Amino acid sequence: MQIHVTCVAVALLGSIAGYSQTNGVIYEGARLIIGDASAPIENGVFVVRNGHITAIGRKGEIKAPAAAARVDLTGKTVMPAMNNVHLHIGYEGFVSWSVENHTPENVLDHLEREAFYGIGTAMAMGEQPTEFAIKFQQDQLAGKFPPAARFFFAAGMAPPGGGPDSLLIQGTTPLHAVYEVSTPDDAIAAVRRIAARKIKEVKFWVDNRDNSRGGMKKMPPKVYTALIEEAHKHGMIVHAHATNLQDQKGVVKAGVDVLVHTLAAEKVDDEFVSILKDKRPYWAPVMGLGDRSELCDGNNPFIEQTLPDSVIADIRAGKTWLPSSPCSAPANSQFARREENLRYNFPKYIAAGARIVLGSDAGVSAKYSYGFAEHHEIGMYVSLGLTPAEAIVASTSRPTEVLRIKDTGTLAKGKRADFIVLNANPLENIRNTREIDSVYLYGARLDREALQAKFKQAVVDRDAAQAKSRTDYVPHPPSSRKLVD
Ligand SMILES: [Zn+2]
Repeated sequence: MQIHVTCVAVALLGSIAGYSQTNGVIYEGARLIIGDASAPIENGVFVVRNGHITAIGRKGEIKAPAAAARVDLTGKTVMPAMNNVHLHIGYEGFVSWSVENHTPENVLDHLEREAFYGIGTAMAMGEQPTEFAIKFQQDQLAGKFPPAARFFFAAGMAPPGGGPDSLLIQGTTPLHAVYEVSTPDDAIAAVRRIAARKIKEVKFWVDNRDNSRGGMKKMPPKVYTALIEEAHKHGMIVHAHATNLQDQKGVVKAGVDVLVHTLAAEKVDDEFVSILKDKRPYWAPVMGLGDRSELCDGNNPFIEQTLPDSVIADIRAGKTWLPSSPCSAPANSQFARREENLRYNFPKYIAAGARIVLGSDAGVSAKYSYGFAEHHEIGMYVSLGLTPAEAIVASTSRPTEVLRIKDTGTLAKGKRADFIVLNANPLENIRNTREIDSVYLYGARLDREALQAKFKQAVVDRDAAQAKSRTDYVPHPPSSRKLVD
């Protein structure tokens, strides 16, 4: 595919707002939530210079450069920008969902949506074509794009014809985004090819989507064991999509670094608890995609502010690309059982030492999409037993351990100035992460008004778009063993 990354949205470069940072900017008076386990600083001060925090402490304790600009944040709360280790970027078009949408412009749009809601980094999980993703990441690092969440990606691996869900696979297959492996030797060879491109993360899918694709589409333990061992030899972090008890036990026992998903219909047992205690994996439960849309509960300005009205109506009517129930449908027994299992299982994972880390799984359904999904997800953590402070750690500093970056995730001297200014305190109520006054990335205030206008205006006639993208879909071809990159 053609990549025209350099010409993306240059017009938006004018949208960087904020203060000159040359002499430093002092932000004073706010409650500062650090993002690690430490206590917040009341009446805090921090200084930002050249994109980084150069000093932080209580008011009166910090010496700031005399020429620095001052920003009064009295009454506000500041927390680090959030970081998301699991989502799917590029195919969502809100009025269409298609491989044709996978362009640099659209990837950037999704990262801007993340940034709008206070997310500083976002890791695409296994659905990106390798060359595209490497080039996009390099161009973003080189400063060629307007401010947005930083783009990270993991290579994807699955058995031929297995892997991504029924919608996502319609994007990944034509773009050859997923490395197809059938044997341990295939997996080892694929990991070596990925490592040779200096890609540091790999995700594999175990399940066969409830047998809908046949038993052969499942990745057997001997394949993922070889995959994990080889990846670790290259210093890579391995994520596993696994949704039943047997598979979750298998991948954790085999040493996976990041366990993804919850158990769809089972309860955690003693054996799994002891495996979790032994291995203490990171855990990205990505639960919210299975929830009813918050848009079903009436007006929701927080979500509605970035979606075209027609898309909001479609979500309520259940007309999403990945099938979902309309808001009018009564909750069914399956839904109640899922709720019950989550309430039973979630505290067991945590008590066993699973290290929860923020992922949203956004990108396959407009109902649970870029930026607002994160706020719903961390709300679920709290409703299932975490404290707000723990939910904030899981969404700010801990993801940086998985991303293996040290330059963000907390408010501390030397870190990038990636932060959210809030009008209310999320330590009192996690829903207060939604009370966003402003978002700063690398010390620059994001022009959220301009972004919002762009997001809202992206309306085309849904039916026309739907008809077009249906014909544009490349049908899922027979399995190919060909490795790509
Ligand atoms: Zn996913």
